[in-house]
Amino acid sequence: MAEKNVKKNGTYVLGVDLGGTKILAAVVSKDGKVISRAKKKTKADSDAQAIMQRMVDCCEEAMEKAKLTAKSILAIGVGSPGPLDPIEGKVLDTPNLNLKNAPIAKFISEKLKIKTFIDNDVNIGTLGEFTYGAGKGKKDIIGIFLGTGVGGGVIINGKLHHGYSLNAGELGHMKLVANGELCGCGQRGCLEAYASKTAMIRKIKEAIAEGKKSILPELIGDNWSKLTSKVFKKCVEEKDPLVVPILEEAAIYTGIGIGSLLNILSPELVVIGGGLCEALPDFFMPIIRNHAEKNSFPIMYKGIKIVPAALGDDAGILGAAALAWQRIK
Ligand SMILES: [Zn+2]
Repeated sequence: MAEKNVKKNGTYVLGVDLGGTKILAAVVSKDGKVISRAKKKTKADSDAQAIMQRMVDCCEEAMEKAKLTAKSILAIGVGSPGPLDPIEGKVLDTPNLNLKNAPIAKFISEKLKIKTFIDNDVNIGTLGEFTYGAGKGKKDIIGIFLGTGVGGGVIINGKLHHGYSLNAGELGHMKLVANGELCGCGQRGCLEAYASKTAMIRKIKEAIAEGKKSILPELIGDNWSKLTSKVFKKCVEEKDPLVVPILEEAAIYTGIGIGSLLNILSPELVVIGGGLCEALPDFFMPIIRNHAEKNSFPIMYKGIKIVPAALGDDAGILGAAALAWQRIK
């Protein structure tokens, strides 16, 4: 038994995914195998201290389930909403959680006596795909995640690119249209104002108000929270004349944005994540690829791959685990 425990020392990390509604923690091996999982409610309106303590509790539960002590855990990686300081390990501010200047890394490492590192959730998603998912084995990749907003991450030569501000990678706020649609960030014409689920729903509501025909009211009534990726999929299968062109437009703008990114950064692979794209890869990917090709130089497009994300719901914990393995080196 003793020998087995020695062998286990430092062979695992903890990956923590801090979201607006739930905290997930998992013990993960070097090759990306999830050994155990734990889940707690974030309780977003509680104070920073309480949220950080629940993250610690969640880590402890994951270790207990794996029958491991802190000694066997080499490091902890955390994915959190930003903006944040990945060097100090601090969340600076975040719209949906009370985490102003919250020293997450310091708090967790002092409580558990395990070195802790943080990065923002979309950087983590990109790092997860790079290490264990669709970008495995590549050197330069870009991740774009289409969700309520549009987020992204840039990996150059195997490392996340943070830039001077330490917050680089806001791909969703690339300006595509001068004086275009109003974006959630307060500015106009950003990719997010065209390709986020929020933007799509706004356009769908406008089109319905104009009296355009759609199967959508039949499927969800007045309850917009019922508009899941599954419902979008149904609309595509039924060739809905209202919803399909709006999804197409989102894919076109995403492709145009990627075209510019290819010209500037020349990555080897672009991975596209987010529930909607992952539910409808056959619809989104060809449009995105086509417009990325049309909007980039042939030398930048040649030989590259634009692919859907592969890790699904595990992207957060696996990406956080990948961060722990990378930063502990
Ligand atoms: Zn914006």
